[in-house]
Amino acid sequence: MNSFINDEKILSIIENTKFSESKAEEIIQKALALKGLGLEEAAMLLSCPDDEYLDKIFAAAGKVKSLIYGRRLVFFAPLYISSFCVNNCLYCGFRRDNKDIARRRLSIAEVLKEVNLLESFGHKRLLVVAAEDKDINADYLSEVISAIYAAKNGRGEIRRVNINCAPLDLQGFKKLKKCGIGTYQLFQETYHNNTYNKMHPCGPKSDFMKRLYAMDTAQEAGIDDVGIGALFGLYDFRFEVLSLLEHCRYLEDKFGAGPHTISVPRIEPALNSLVSDNPPYAVSDIDFKKIIAVLRLAVPYTGLILSTREKSSLRNELLYLGISQVSAGSRTNPGGYSSSGDGQFCLGDNRTLKEVVMDAAEAGFIASFCTACYRNKRTGADFMKLAKPGHIQEFCLSNAILTLKEYLLDYTDNGQNKASALLDAEAANIKDGNMRKITLGRLKRLERGERDLYF
Ligand code: SAM
Ligand code: SF4
Repeated sequence: MNSFINDEKILSIIENTKFSESKAEEIIQKALALKGLGLEEAAMLLSCPDDEYLDKIFAAAGKVKSLIYGRRLVFFAPLYISSFCVNNCLYCGFRRDNKDIARRRLSIAEVLKEVNLLESFGHKRLLVVAAEDKDINADYLSEVISAIYAAKNGRGEIRRVNINCAPLDLQGFKKLKKCGIGTYQLFQETYHNNTYNKMHPCGPKSDFMKRLYAMDTAQEAGIDDVGIGALFGLYDFRFEVLSLLEHCRYLEDKFGAGPHTISVPRIEPALNSLVSDNPPYAVSDIDFKKIIAVLRLAVPYTGLILSTREKSSLRNELLYLGISQVSAGSRTNPGGYSSSGDGQFCLGDNRTLKEVVMDAAEAGFIASFCTACYRNKRTGADFMKLAKPGHIQEFCLSNAILTLKEYLLDYTDNGQNKASALLDAEAANIKDGNMRKITLGRLKRLERGERDLYF
């Protein structure tokens, strides 16, 4: 099988790109027209030196973000279910040879204890995360997912479960699809084959090609929302960004839609990791901003996910550059919401969900707990067909407003605060008169006790 990542082609684009302001100007204009960018164009913006011109790229990314996502910011939390791992990824605290970590695999009862807490914080969207544990198979994952959907805690409930776990076979993915997963997420870590081989010396994950084509299997099983990502710090960030764009293009050509999301994890220190204290290609904050801005310009309709690996001050800045989904109040050890333990890596942002929601509002962003697209079967190519001409944006804003209202009613003292003030202002400003009227009506119904109203 031939890889759709052509190292030589990508490296030669990087090598032959010389930054030119006039060319960058044309590229920015194309991006502002929401046309996305090709590899050469993205490479040109990535080659921008750290001077004033970079601010123009950041401003354009902010504009594209606001054109497509408005002030919405989707929230979720990870739920780790196992830290037993058969692989030995050099950067990870869960790697097989780390003998100093206390490992845990959650039973269904233990999963439910965690879900109960996450619901009591107000989360509606979870990302189930598992190390590559030989005792966790598709049947167990299906049991976990079904149990999560069935678990209610007062008004709390989880309405969308995404998953990040080792690739399954076709039958395994079909089982996940059947029990209603949202996105299947898997990071290639690095798209550079030689670096990949060094970082993944043994275990099933050492098969670069199998990982590269895992999304094809997921798609063939009917999972049409997939999430890709690269672990920044393992290899040249420009190579990883261009490869992510190649992966998007490949999926779009083959399945009619690119990935639903791209994640941008950056290596954090991890217990007994062999590379995380001193990553081979450490990415500076300014380059990290560049990565996010260029991805936003290159694939405007793809969600960009930022985790609590990053510290809060930087997270706040990155919201303006293109991030559309964030995790909040996260723990990276199985059982971490109800007890302490060894996490997969160190966290940079330890704020609670409520603190992140309020800080986002302070910065002008509406927390959204919306799960409507997936529940209305607006996924994969169907989602893109609506998203690209801008048809679902009015729905999205109203859904964000309604889910934030639920959150404020059920998980805060519901007094006046930054988030409620922002919500009222956004609701009053919904452009379409009919949508505005219906949304305002639904806000009243939520106040009277109804829940889960969405478009
Ligand atoms: N074990 C599965 C796998 O490797 O695909 C599931 C995901 S793993 C628990 C979640 C992700 O954490 C990995 O894909 C990797 O990108 C990221 N990760 C591992 N070590 C990390 C570190 N030291 N800092 C930041 N992210 C890390
Ligand atoms: Fe295991 Fe995933 Fe960590 Fe690799 S990144 S050691 S597969 S948990």
